[in-house]
Amino acid sequence: MHSLKQYTTFAIDVQAKELITVTNEQQVQELVHNPLFQSSKNTIIIGGGSNILFTQDFDGLVLINKIAGKNLIKETDKHIIVKFGAGEIFNDIVERSVDNNYAGIENLISIPGTIGAAPVQNIGAYGMEISDRIVQVTGIDLTTGEKRTYTNEQCEFGYRDSIFKNSLKNNFFITEAILQLTKVDSSYNPKIHYGDIETMLLVQGRDGIKQLTPKQVSQTIAEIRASKLPDWKKIGTAGSFFQNPLISKDIYNNLKTEHPELIGHIVSQENVKLSAGNLIELVGLKGYRDGDAAVYDKHALVLVNYGSATGEQMKNLIHLIQTKVYDKFHIHLQPEVNIY
Ligand SMILES: Cc1cc2nc3c(=O)[nH]c(=O)nc-3n(C[C@H](O)[C@H](O)[C@H](O)COP(=O)(O)OP(=O)(O)OC[C@H]3O[C@@H](n4cnc5c(N)ncnc54)[C@H](O)[C@@H]3O)c2cc1C
Repeated sequence: MHSLKQYTTFAIDVQAKELITVTNEQQVQELVHNPLFQSSKNTIIIGGGSNILFTQDFDGLVLINKIAGKNLIKETDKHIIVKFGAGEIFNDIVERSVDNNYAGIENLISIPGTIGAAPVQNIGAYGMEISDRIVQVTGIDLTTGEKRTYTNEQCEFGYRDSIFKNSLKNNFFITEAILQLTKVDSSYNPKIHYGDIETMLLVQGRDGIKQLTPKQVSQTIAEIRASKLPDWKKIGTAGSFFQNPLISKDIYNNLKTEHPELIGHIVSQENVKLSAGNLIELVGLKGYRDGDAAVYDKHALVLVNYGSATGEQMKNLIHLIQTKVYDKFHIHLQPEVNIY
């Protein structure tokens, strides 16, 4: 048995029956012929473990992705195209990108985890999504050992969604991802009309700057995130726990009449996106704690493990939140985090 505590940012102390760490593509390809792999009932792929919650021991094989590597594929006047090994740390890529004055992923600063997992749930923050920068994703089909490449379109990206999270979940091991980044010139138009970015720019005295750089934008966002989110290196968490529910305008208008304090953002002619954190706050669970399993007191969308929360306590907490929100608003909160 192998403790998984160190392999996920939630740091729940559960055990996996088998664990293999892979450092290159060939090792992934050879897994198909590995007796341990063949005899395992279930397989889970883990990168940084920052979007996974284990609530119980895992009777199967955990594959840890540590595939490193970066290669410049192409450079033009306007863009660079770079290939990354799937185990590269995503935040390091963002930092190198802004240090070199490239635009395209600066708003995704401070998201933990690997580049290989970034397309899985199409990570996004502050008005940016990785799908806007993914050229292609390559990996190994774990049922056949076959190497396959998915173009951006074939990845079937959606809001926190992709083909890798659905039909290919845990049977396609992503080994590399290619990103396109943009060289900054006078046409650079930073995405700052989102969340508290403009307010923070004001606080930092950056509001007067005529042409912000991607690095300045990323520093501003990093500061906002640090003020709202727990430091995952110190407190167990997987960031936002639930997806923001999408509902029709009609349902929203009815709910808003009944609950004027409800927060919604119009996303299309038909739909409104609710804030899941707002819903949790409105049922009075912000800061709620059962032992070390808790709703973070600074941000109700974030669930935390203050040290020794058990999988059972986390499961009960999730159930309590979903039940209370459903009872009050008739809305089912869907976890964004992968629960096992
Ligand atoms: C403090 C904090 C803040 C966060 N903020 C954000 C945010 O702003 N926006 C956002 O979108 N997310 C956010 N997240 C969630 C998380 O960081 C992202 O989903 C990240 O991409 C997960 O990367 P990982 O390597 O840790 O993936 P893991 O947690 O290891 O895995 C996530 C999923 O991807 C699969 N997977 C992982 N690697 C591979 C691979 N190589 N091939 C195939 N499947 C794979 C896993 O099986 C699992 O289903 C946050 C998390 C934390 C802890």
